[in-house]
Formats: sequence, structure tokens, C-alpha cells
Amino acid sequence: MNSSTDPTREQDLAVVRTVADLRRTVAAFRKAGRTIGLVPTMGALHEGHVSLVKGALDRGDVPATSIFVNPTQFGPNEDFAAYPRDEQGDFDKLRAAGCRIVFAPSKDEMYPGQQLTTVTVAGITDGLCGPLRPGHFEGVATVVSKLLLMAMPDRAFFGEKDYQQLQVIKRMVRDLSMPFEIVGMPTVREADGLAMSSRNRYMNPTERAIAAGLYRELNAVAKAARGGASCTAAAAEAAKALLAGGFDKIEYLTVVDAESLAPLEKVSGPARVIAAARLGRTRLIDNIAA
Ligand code: AMP
Repeated sequence: MNSSTDPTREQDLAVVRTVADLRRTVAAFRKAGRTIGLVPTMGALHEGHVSLVKGALDRGDVPATSIFVNPTQFGPNEDFAAYPRDEQGDFDKLRAAGCRIVFAPSKDEMYPGQQLTTVTVAGITDGLCGPLRPGHFEGVATVVSKLLLMAMPDRAFFGEKDYQQLQVIKRMVRDLSMPFEIVGMPTVREADGLAMSSRNRYMNPTERAIAAGLYRELNAVAKAARGGASCTAAAAEAAKALLAGGFDKIEYLTVVDAESLAPLEKVSGPARVIAAARLGRTRLIDNIAA
């Protein structure tokens, strides 16, 4: 490898599309004494994703971001085909953020041939998004396992925005003794509190204005729950307010144990107020500490 192709010498973003190239690039950084921080994404990147790259940089890791819209985590009636894709824009944002490796594989590179193996995390997938999105967390756990094994990072960074996903991955890594540290990062929000999401661009201006109510109501429930109120009563009141404010459907809005995700009636330890709601064609999820 001469200096012009040595990814550790150039300050640029190495774009790799195959597992072999990813491993070669990671190996070059490791040989230079560097640690690797993996940031798995589905692209259409925003400040939330960028904060994960910054999280890796802050720990001294070489950030490696993957961009793959994983078909196996979408249900048949979900938005796989419509999911926003903007590869060049994503590369520009990653470059500006100081990311050094981007892994953007094809579907065949990710899933070569017939795949007979999947990863299932039981229990904490029984509630919340689990029953509403059958197969979703199996798709997530399987693709994240593959990405971890492809990149073999020191750490991987995930947003608290997808709180159930973060707990599923933490549990998977623990149960399977995977040698990676999983780092959860705080949710990055718009000025009005709406959690940033690639799906926010589905909303029209009217819906976008209504959407801010979700964060407001999560805060109201958290405050009530912390004050000793019944979680069920506080959540029911918030759901009613959201529907009155223009949301079409509240799929769930509940207070759960922060680790097991079991529903709580009273808060006495670490807890999370967590919700999924529909607004037009957009499905919004969000959560905060209670
Ligand atoms: P996605 O591309 O939506 O699959 O998300 C990739 C990663 O970015 C996941 O770990 C998400 O939890 C994280 N993420 C998405 N939105 C945000 C946000 N607003 N703040 C922090 N992390 C986020």
C-alpha cells in the first residue's frame, strides 16, 4: 500500500463497498495503532447521525459509518421503497463530520446467497414496537450482528432515539459475548423538540407543526410520573392530548423500566417514557427519561 492509497494517511473519507475492502481499510488503521468506532445507519443522514460520528471521534476512535437500507427490517406494508436515499449528500456530511470510513454495500454484498441464519432477541421485543412490526427486531439484530462482524470495531454507537433497538443490541451483545462496547448516545432534536429522523421529511408543514406535540407530551408524562402519579393515567391523558392536537393514532405511549422495558405503574428507578404515533403517512417514535 503506497501513501496515496493508504487510508490512514489521507484525511479523506474512504468509501468502501465490499466486506473485503472494509476489512482491509480497518486493518490499515489498526496497524497504525487506531481503534475503530462503528456507526450503523440507513443513510439520509442528519445531525443525529453526525452526533454518533462525533461520539466516536470524542473517544479517539476512527469513525466508520455504514449506510445500508436493510430490507429485512421493513415489513411488507412499510416504507422500504420510499425510504429516503441520498448517498452523495451523506458522504459530504460524513466528510465534514470527520468520518474516515464509509461502508455502503449492495444488498448482495450484505446478504450473499441464501441466508439461513438470523439473530432473535426475546423478551424485550415482546412489547412496544415488537408486536407492531413483526420481524423488525430480528432484521435489526441480524444486520447489526453482520455489520459488527464485518467491521470488528472496538465500539459501536447507537442513538437513544431508537430506544428499544438500543436495548435489543445491548442485550444481544451481552448474551452472545460479542467483544464490542455498545455506546448509547442522546437524541438530537430540532429547536421545537422534535427528534431528528430521516422520516421527518415525509411530513408536510402542517404535520410538522403538529409533530412537536409528541416531545411536549412525553415531558408532561415524565414530570407526572416523577411526581408519583399513575403512569397509566398520565399516559392516557397525553395520548388524548396528542389526538386532540392532530395526531392520527397513538400506537403506544407508556412508561417502562429503562432496561427490561417492562411497563410501570409507578416510577421508582430508571424509567423511560416511550411512544409511537402516526401522523399522516409518517410513523414517529420518541422517548425520554422519566
Ligand atoms: P437510522 O439511520 O434511522 O437507522 O439510524 C441510525 C442510527 O442513528 C441509530 O442508532 C439511531 O438511533 C441513530 N439516530 C437516529 N436519529 C437520531 C437522533 N435524532 N439523535 C441521535 N441518534 C439518532
